[in-house]
Amino acid sequence: MWQRERDQMVERQIACRGVTDARVLDAMRQVPRHAFVPPESVDCAHDDRAMPIGQGQTISQPYMVAVMTQLLELEPTDRVLEIGTGSGYQAAMLAMLAREVISVERVPLLAEAARQRLHALGYENVVVVVGDGTLGCREYAPYDAIIVTAGGPFVPETLKTQLALDGRFVCPVGPREVQHLAVIRRTATGFQETASIGCVFVPLIGAEGWPEDAKDEG
Ligand code: SAM
Repeated sequence: MWQRERDQMVERQIACRGVTDARVLDAMRQVPRHAFVPPESVDCAHDDRAMPIGQGQTISQPYMVAVMTQLLELEPTDRVLEIGTGSGYQAAMLAMLAREVISVERVPLLAEAARQRLHALGYENVVVVVGDGTLGCREYAPYDAIIVTAGGPFVPETLKTQLALDGRFVCPVGPREVQHLAVIRRTATGFQETASIGCVFVPLIGAEGWPEDAKDEG
């Protein structure tokens, strides 16, 4: 059940738009996206868009999940930090491709629901932590890859310090209305940053993000 929908999602929304990493495409075909959306939205789970998951938050568009995951260039031995657990869908994708995933969510209700969902689905290599992810998670640092799944005004400096040498970091950055994906790599001499595609994310709220009282704007 839902395999056909996932195969079509990959073929019609992702592979044809330039995502070529076979491991990423294969994980997109396997992770049961329908299990990460609210029950009333199951029939639209594979639509080409972000969808509400409660608490004013969203599960990201499948294409955006695929692009960001590809940009992380994950190896099976990697430890990954995700900021913005939301439904847990992106965390499940990362769990398929890396050794260990630490996922930080600021809304406790979402974190608990995602923790239970990931456990029920058998993703045992994900740790969900409640907190302000703009400050990362020092306990498990350094990370081979970091992904932020909410949009901030700038790249959080603290997260850069938690990146391992040769680590990759993908983060939506820009004004509230529209952002782009910043792609950062830590090298022996510092950080290299490039800009990838445009995107629209819910706000990253925290010490190195937007202020809490700005969350209902835009
Ligand atoms: N990755 C999620 C998924 O697969 O369902 C989608 C994430 S949703 C677009 C963005 C999430 O980031 C929301 O759940 C929101 O509560 C969370 N968030 C925003 N600011 C945060 C912060 N400073 N630390 C942790 N989570 C944050």
